Amino acid sequence: MFVPTAGKDVVCRFVFGVACGCSFGFTSKWESKEIMALIVQKFGGTSVGSPAKIKAVAERVLRNKSQGNQMVVVLSAMSGETNRLVDLASQMQELPDTREMDMLLSTGEQVTVSLFAMAVKEAGDDAVSFLGDQVKIKTDSVHTKARIESIDSEKIRAELNQGRVVVIAGFQGVNEKGDITTLGRGGSDTTAVALAAALKADSCEIYTDVEGVYTTDPNICAKARKIDRISYDEMLELASLGAKVLDIRSVTLAKRYKVPIHVRSTFTETEGTWVIEEDKQMEGLIVSGVTYNKNEARITVSGVPNQPGIAAKIFTPISDENIIVDMIIQNQDAGKGKADMTFTVIRSDYERTLKLLQQLIKKIGAESVQGDTDITKISIVGVGMRNHSGIASTMFSVLAKEGINISMISTSEIKVSCVIEEKYTELAVRALHDAFELDKSNVSIEEQ
Ligand code: ADP
Ligand code: ASP
Ligand code: MG
Repeated sequence: MFVPTAGKDVVCRFVFGVACGCSFGFTSKWESKEIMALIVQKFGGTSVGSPAKIKAVAERVLRNKSQGNQMVVVLSAMSGETNRLVDLASQMQELPDTREMDMLLSTGEQVTVSLFAMAVKEAGDDAVSFLGDQVKIKTDSVHTKARIESIDSEKIRAELNQGRVVVIAGFQGVNEKGDITTLGRGGSDTTAVALAAALKADSCEIYTDVEGVYTTDPNICAKARKIDRISYDEMLELASLGAKVLDIRSVTLAKRYKVPIHVRSTFTETEGTWVIEEDKQMEGLIVSGVTYNKNEARITVSGVPNQPGIAAKIFTPISDENIIVDMIIQNQDAGKGKADMTFTVIRSDYERTLKLLQQLIKKIGAESVQGDTDITKISIVGVGMRNHSGIASTMFSVLAKEGINISMISTSEIKVSCVIEEKYTELAVRALHDAFELDKSNVSIEEQ
């Protein structure tokens, strides 16, 4: 029988405040462990990729429930399904309408949550599935990349208190008009962390097809090493630079609401990776990971008048369309008073951005716009870089030695990124992983 704690019953509506900055009713409670745990578990597409896999996940969840835990399960669509739906949309409309896109994409998760609830019932237990709007996962109205604003946890608690497994569709919410929204690719991770924060869950487990967060993608580098513990900040960098094992917004939320995340495998019992607050031991590593992102495209606006305000004239209409710009480089041609502006956007925004700029160039007096999609952004990440020089130059030398040309560079306190030709991705990842000896654990600053 489930007896909710007083603390769990008090707060029903949880507001994720960016605009208002409010998080009332929320205090971190991971410090004080309770006897009975409320666990949020998220299973990704490969984990629920077939009826047999869904049954296996249901059994795993029920094992946890039988130990006296309350279980909230967040599911992705079956692997390949969201891509299939994106492809269908592109056969209907050149630039699919984003509201209709969300209507379509949200269906993938509806399939898995309902099948999962059936599997639990078949196993003799009880479960109930919900879509985003049924548990009031309220978002803004930016279709295909909406942000969660609040969650009403009352209904979830009521079902948990009835002894049911609550199964929630990841990746989706509802806007103020009642329209379905989606959170952007990989967004089920964010649904899980948001629910863990809203429900003050005792743990938030992200189950996937690898055993945790690695020093680089284990699927392209055999020497990749699993990281036991990683700070929110480092994970934010890894995720933002392409380590898709966790969606970046899930890490942002986890950091803000102090939700420890345990990333682990659906197919083994092995302890995975804990994503938590930074501690001294973590700072010992100069470079903790190599990432790559093939999901960007490069655009160059050539012959731009080199005068004050020109960057704003190019980038304001782009941001007004909710298109995120990543790296920016401006090359000046001193002779002609003209400049070239090169930048990267998410690949799915490429066509839209090109179209927008083609209409804009005459207005701003630029000569032409062109772009390409066969690029990769390759990055090295590590909080220890803050206090160390020479990391970027080592990276450039390693790429040069492999004959890989760098076309754009950007740095922050804890990362260096280079844009290279896509065909060199695997080669660059392996060479950098070797050069920074990431296969060896606990390489201290002194040893490097
Ligand atoms: P899910 O469908 O479970 O959400 P994803 O495909 O989104 O899974 O994320 C898991 C994948 O992330 C792995 O299969 C792996 O190829 C990739 N990946 C990229 N970088 C890393 C990394 N640093 N550590 C672990 N996995 C990574
Ligand atoms: N099904 C969505 C996607 O493939 C969301 C997710 O899996 O997290 O991007
Ligand atoms: Mg994912």
